[in-house]
Amino acid sequence: MIGPAATGTTLHGKPYVTPYAEESLDLPLAFEWAAEGPRLTYRDALPQEWMFGVLWARCGTAQEGKILWHMVHTLRQRRCMLKRLCRVCGKPATDPDTGRVCWILPSALADDFRSSWPTAHPPTCKAHVGEALTACPYLRREAPVVCTVGDYFPVGVLANLYGEDDGGRVVETRHQIAIGLDEFHLLPRALATQLIVQISDLQPAPQESRAW
Ligand SMILES: [Zn+2]
Repeated sequence: MIGPAATGTTLHGKPYVTPYAEESLDLPLAFEWAAEGPRLTYRDALPQEWMFGVLWARCGTAQEGKILWHMVHTLRQRRCMLKRLCRVCGKPATDPDTGRVCWILPSALADDFRSSWPTAHPPTCKAHVGEALTACPYLRREAPVVCTVGDYFPVGVLANLYGEDDGGRVVETRHQIAIGLDEFHLLPRALATQLIVQISDLQPAPQESRAW
C-alpha cells in the first residue's frame, strides 16, 4: 500500500520514498487462524510479507507513471530505515567519516539532544539536505534542524487496523495509528505502512551540512 506522506514533499526530482500511481496494488486481505488466534494475511501471502510480527502493505516497485507526491512508498520507506538510506536518493545517509546518520528533524524534537525520539521520517543524506528543506513546506513550517544521529532501532509501525464485519468481510477499523512492536494484541490485526524507529545520541550537524 501507498501511505500518506508525513511531510508533503514536493521535490522536483523523484524522491526515493515517493510512490508512483502504478505501484498501488490491490490488497487481497483475509483473516486466518494462527497459533495466537486470528491474524491478518493475504489470500496469497508469502512468508516475507511479515516483518517484526506484522503484515506489511504490498506495493509495486516499477517507479513509473504519475508521482504521488503526498504519499510514502511502504517498502522503500522501510528499506531506508533498515539500511540507513537517504529518503531522497536511496543511497547511504551515513557519513563515512563519522559513522553518524544525517537526519532532518522538527526543531521541537531536536531541542533536546540528550533524548531519544521515535520517528517515521527516514534520514536524509548530507548532499540532499538543502533540496529536502527547500522543497518541503512541512519541514519549513516545523523550523527544522539538521542533526546527526548516533544510533537508532525499530520500535513500531504506522499501520491500519482491520477487523471483520457481520458478513465476514475484512474492514479497516483504524487508520494510520502508531503501534509498538511489543503491542502483541494489535499486531495480528495491523497492516503496516511505515516503520517507526527510535533515534538516539542526537547532535547538531556540522555547519557545512546545513546547506539551506
Ligand atoms: Zn540523498
